[in-house]
Amino acid sequence: MNITPITSHANPQIKKIKSLELRKYRKETGLFLAEGLRSVIEGVELNAPLEQLVVHHDHVARPEVQRLINATRTSVLSVTDDILSKLSHKDNPQTVLGVFRQNFAPLATLQNGVWVGVEQIRDPGNLGTIIRTIDAAGAAGIVLIGSCCDPYAPESVRASMGSIFAVPIVSVTEDAFYNWRKDYKHPIIGTALQTNTDYREISYPTDMMVMMGNEQAGLSEIMRTHCTHLVKMPMRGRADSLNLAVATAVMLYSILK
Ligand code: SAM
Repeated sequence: MNITPITSHANPQIKKIKSLELRKYRKETGLFLAEGLRSVIEGVELNAPLEQLVVHHDHVARPEVQRLINATRTSVLSVTDDILSKLSHKDNPQTVLGVFRQNFAPLATLQNGVWVGVEQIRDPGNLGTIIRTIDAAGAAGIVLIGSCCDPYAPESVRASMGSIFAVPIVSVTEDAFYNWRKDYKHPIIGTALQTNTDYREISYPTDMMVMMGNEQAGLSEIMRTHCTHLVKMPMRGRADSLNLAVATAVMLYSILK
């Protein structure tokens, strides 16, 4: 196996991996970084395309790391503590980082099961939490509509806790979505404050989409017109809305009960 020891931050391979913290370079290369041995093993077990492993030099000989290296047969960079902590976004030091290829599913994937649509979501932490919740609740996948944050941003990957590898992710422009929507035969249930229909009044089918809005603006007027129903979770106290990821969790567990 090809294990390359690296001690300098100026190494071009390290610079390239470091650049993946910027969306521009993730887009250009189609790659992203997963941090932590558990996360990387999960990705490999789910057949995510692993391009490179970065391992703390003190941990290369560990049996679980050796198993990973042998199973993936990818190129391995053995690096110092200092380099690894510069590449990592986690507070606790990691032993392994994996450079994976991004995997966006085509719109045609979106047929059966319960899908989550998100319109113009901005916070990658929310997005990763929603991806994790979709995985946990057994929903089919997520559709990112319009200019959303990047599901492969470090904060999103971290918040997904490995579910980034398990949940199909579709990304589309608004126009492509509205166009595709004409042939979608199942209900699209929008969640919005501009309705009096309690989310518990609806009986949810096995094939549908639940549509969630932007953190500040909520669901746009045009998206609301594309929904077959609108539902609201009653707000009983001072708060006027739920956090987006929390609202998604409440909806998914009501739909998939
Ligand atoms: N000020 C925004 C508004 O007017 O909709 C609040 C947006 S909320 C933080 C983000 C998203 O979470 C909403 O677009 C909706 O999809 C969902 N959401 C949050 N609380 C909700 C509630 N009580 N009922 C229905 N949807 C809710």
